[in-house]
Amino acid sequence: MVSSTSANVEMTTSDSPAAERLRITEIFHSIQGEADAIGWRTVFVRLTGCPLRCVWCDTEYSFYGGNWRDIDDILAEVASYGASHVCVTGGEPLAQKRCLILLRKLCDAGYEVSLETSGALDVAEVDPRVRKVMDLKAPDSGESARNLWSNLDHLLPHDQVKIVIASRVDYEWARGVVAEHRIDRRCMVLFSPVHGAIEPRALAEWIIEDKLPVRFQLQLHKLLWNDAPGH
Ligand code: SF4
Repeated sequence: MVSSTSANVEMTTSDSPAAERLRITEIFHSIQGEADAIGWRTVFVRLTGCPLRCVWCDTEYSFYGGNWRDIDDILAEVASYGASHVCVTGGEPLAQKRCLILLRKLCDAGYEVSLETSGALDVAEVDPRVRKVMDLKAPDSGESARNLWSNLDHLLPHDQVKIVIASRVDYEWARGVVAEHRIDRRCMVLFSPVHGAIEPRALAEWIIEDKLPVRFQLQLHKLLWNDAPGH
């Protein structure tokens, strides 16, 4: 799998209007490891920066650094991989306002576009063609207070809510919010165990025992590549 980070600087044109640029940590071509598009060959565009600090975050390398890229350069690199699926991720991609332009242009170009977002930033302006994969942060993340509950009103049937679960306390919280907000009636709900913090089988058995209307998931890229950057 190829990460283009080193090529980014060369591909950035110095005369690009600032309004059309984004700070990018990496662009890479891999297999989608989670959510509804799991298993599809996908180009990932990872935007730099995140205002949250979840204790179990597995992409801390995206908090700083990156390279400024012209949005049209990003589109050209995405096209070079010949994939039909594109995932815009981070960090928190919506922390850069111009992410909305990238999402719209990717949709205009005909891709199946997904957006991985923390649930802490407003998703109201996201192009409705984009499949949002929106987190709700459970207590053990340390960022539960950042959940922007009004985002639930902007979910479409093709979107997904993901809750990452590190403990029984997290599980009970997640079970409660799904029931309280009837999230499963809005869109698919995903429960995902924190790698190394909870036995995946325990989470699976709790879901079965409680007959929850949610979808259990393990992250495929962790099984395949042990979560190495660029995958
Ligand atoms: S929102 Fe995502 S990128 Fe940001 S700290 Fe949490 S897990 Fe990491």
